[in-house]
Amino acid sequence: MAEDLKCRECGKAYSAQPAAMCEECFGPLEFNVDYSQLAGILTREKIAQRAKNMWRYRELLPITNVPAPGASIGFTPLVVANNLAKHWGVQELYIKNDAVNFPSLSFKDRVVSVAIAKAIDFGFKVVGCASTGNLANAVAAQAAACRLKTCILIPSDLEPAKITGTLIYGANLIAVTGNYDEVNRLCTQIAERYQWGFVNVNLRPYYAEGSKTYGFEILEQLGWKTPQHIIVPMAGGSLITKIQKAVQEFQKLGLIEQSPCRIYGAQAEGCAPIVNMVKQGLDRLRPVKPNTIAKSLAIGNPADGIYAARVMRQSGGTGESATDDEIVAGIRLLATTEGIFTETAGGVMIAAAEKLIRSGKIPPDESIVLSITGNGLKTQDAITGSVKITATIKPTFQDFQRTYEQGGEAWQ
Ligand SMILES: [Zn+2]
Repeated sequence: MAEDLKCRECGKAYSAQPAAMCEECFGPLEFNVDYSQLAGILTREKIAQRAKNMWRYRELLPITNVPAPGASIGFTPLVVANNLAKHWGVQELYIKNDAVNFPSLSFKDRVVSVAIAKAIDFGFKVVGCASTGNLANAVAAQAAACRLKTCILIPSDLEPAKITGTLIYGANLIAVTGNYDEVNRLCTQIAERYQWGFVNVNLRPYYAEGSKTYGFEILEQLGWKTPQHIIVPMAGGSLITKIQKAVQEFQKLGLIEQSPCRIYGAQAEGCAPIVNMVKQGLDRLRPVKPNTIAKSLAIGNPADGIYAARVMRQSGGTGESATDDEIVAGIRLLATTEGIFTETAGGVMIAAAEKLIRSGKIPPDESIVLSITGNGLKTQDAITGSVKITATIKPTFQDFQRTYEQGGEAWQ
């Protein structure tokens, strides 16, 4: 399988190498599969026979060898969300739940496994990333399992659970007193100077392809069908573009029929540069200074923002944003209706979905997939003030009975 890269802007081709930017025009490099070699060969039956992990689509990924922890990554549940559907008055609603992805409970496990496979191919001994949290967890976990050294950089104000969830794997974690965009710039310099493999910097074209498996799984789990609407949280904007690419690749290979799939992006109101671009009809992305509890989405100058906006426009979708209060309400709504605890990014997506449905932009009788990309246990700080214990009692039956009988509506 060819592993070459191509510039998205000018089309210049590059051999497989750790590089993310075109030398000619500074456009982003992208990995592309030679579909003519796969048509009729990669079939539904062939895929269905394989183990239930993200590598069942391996011909569409830029890898030669699956790294050590890889065999358990992906194929997360596509949940039929009847309770939430009823709450919103829609007929067909699903949740693709990467809050339970292996090993670090977010969709970032997918992208990191591809990037680490390439890092090993390229002979890197140190891998790293610029991260808003989930990526740090995924790189630290998988690098440990692959016996690679790490250099992970984060903004210093990240949630404690995301910091602990990185350090536990023995990672070298550098907290930077700056925002994500500053951290990212610094990582570009470090990767160049020390020749390390930074998964979302010099390994980015490979890394990004891992996100396609999130889309492939949705299509396969729906019975080889395209949903009419998919709603996706956006940080750097890469995931939404790769979900569209997944749909297009399955269509090219004849694995699904050509049918319209509208794709919507969700951001926090305190950091919504891509949503603003789409809603205001702008040609250029205006970077912002992030101010939101959704720290995993707090990227003010998203690398794939322009492409993400293009996906929404081309597919007939749009963008929607959520305030901090709406994010917390969204987390609680999903937990209380479907029993799924998502992080702040999921709260953003739920709140945006609610607005899109209530405003009629998404019709109630069409199929909808909600993208849950991370686990609520990592961002508990955001919701602890909004939930409380029902009662604290002495260990006697009388105490319980009094509490219960005075409890009123909560017990009904
Ligand atoms: Zn170029």
